[in-house]
Amino acid sequence: NPLGLDVRLFAHPSVPVERDAFLQLFDFLDVCRAIADIRDAEARGRLTFFGDAPACIDKVVLTPDFHKGSLVPVGTVARAQHMCIPQAIGNDVCCGMRLLVTDLPADALEPHWPAIQKRLRAIFFAGERDIPMSPRQREAVLRDGLPGLVRTAADNAHHGIWQRFDAAIEKENLARAHAEGGFPTRGLFGFERFIMSSGRVDGRDPQIGCVGGGNHFVELQRIDALFDGHAARDWGVSKGCLAIMIHSGSVGLGHAVGGHFMDRARSIFPTGITSPKGGFFPLPTSGPRAEEGHAYLDGMGNAANFAFANRLFLGLMAVRAVEEATGRTVGAKLVYDAPHNLIFRAGESLVHRKGATPAPGPSGADYHGKPVIIPGSMGAASFLLAGSGHADALESACHGAGRALSRAKTAHVPKDVFARELAKLRVVGPIDPRAPHLARRRDILEKYERRVMEEAPYAYKAVEPVIESVEEAGIARKVARLLPLCTVKG
Ligand code: 5GP
Ligand code: MN
Ligand code: MN
Repeated sequence: NPLGLDVRLFAHPSVPVERDAFLQLFDFLDVCRAIADIRDAEARGRLTFFGDAPACIDKVVLTPDFHKGSLVPVGTVARAQHMCIPQAIGNDVCCGMRLLVTDLPADALEPHWPAIQKRLRAIFFAGERDIPMSPRQREAVLRDGLPGLVRTAADNAHHGIWQRFDAAIEKENLARAHAEGGFPTRGLFGFERFIMSSGRVDGRDPQIGCVGGGNHFVELQRIDALFDGHAARDWGVSKGCLAIMIHSGSVGLGHAVGGHFMDRARSIFPTGITSPKGGFFPLPTSGPRAEEGHAYLDGMGNAANFAFANRLFLGLMAVRAVEEATGRTVGAKLVYDAPHNLIFRAGESLVHRKGATPAPGPSGADYHGKPVIIPGSMGAASFLLAGSGHADALESACHGAGRALSRAKTAHVPKDVFARELAKLRVVGPIDPRAPHLARRRDILEKYERRVMEEAPYAYKAVEPVIESVEEAGIARKVARLLPLCTVKG
């Protein structure tokens, strides 16, 4: 790399990585040049921005699914000191994966697929999503995340999805979410306006319980193979049973927060310094302007807290659909919930992960290391692994197989190839791409169909070599393989 930074890529030679992704990375790393220029100007007494704080990025790790993304390449982990960069975690703050395992044999779903798909569509898209939140609850969630949700659960105990929310179980589950599913913040930092405008204060939050578009999903899966029986048993993962994997983030809230602070970072950037090439503007977290960075970290925390709650509700909604369609009671257990677009505190450092998931090793009661969730695609296997805490990989694993075809390129795949792929899968969306007569508006149907095309199995790399890279590098080891049964796509 042009700056002589410590940059390491953890990918097996069999995993293709495009040159474009590195060009995008170097645009991002130009922020280091800009920081050096600022510090140079400070040393000559021309301005104050970082003060005495030695602001820098001192280490970069690229995960096996490294590929071009929006803003920063997906699979980029950058450790920063005394500053943060809102753009470096992408647009969807605290996008993450959540995995539930159930005691229901997946085979028991076989006779019920039409009913399950119907219930999923109704609950996720056709107006049966029912998540009332009191103003106090909404504020508690944004301030504190899942602990806030648990604390205020009694507010709505008898309404909508809350009837399925067991505060005692969710309290216990906090230990199975990264950072206990919450980042304590000092307040709502200018969000009141956004929150007020985003929903009726006493009514339904229009965003909570949304899968979100594109690559986000809620997927019913069958636990197909176990590789580490001991960890699987301790985590409640049984072969043949139904699992529910959730990939979603902070929807509109994260975009609003990110956008606001990206503008702020641009506007306070010192004059007389050449702007960072890719537009990655830093915010100081130490020195005379430390409050700039800390205000962002609070805003990011609010959005992250919302995302944790969003994934929790999506899980309850999926369980509800399966129970209602099959007439069976489903015992669901949380394996883990972890964000992959976020700035994480590690001692004094701020580790920026964009499309990379934490993979800490065993510690204390965590005998196996933390669960690491790596999905493949709606037509391929997904994996559950156990983290090893690989220090040189900044305790980071990939969070997916990674794109093989850019979204634009999927448009050139012949329609019949796509249709053949789709025919093999169960996809539930706001409309059924195989029943176009149900869609009243041609333009809406086409838009949704395009979104599904962008997510077709051939759009992603083969997941097995990616998983092998993670194992061979000693970042995490395989615990279980999961196969898709039915995918909810927004
Ligand atoms: P992201 O979009 O957050 O960068 O990555 C999500 C990852 O999820 C992708 O790299 C891909 O491997 C995986 N993925 C995308 N869509 C689906 C899906 O519908 N089902 C499953 N199981 N995995 C998916
Ligand atoms: Mn996302
Ligand atoms: Mn994501």
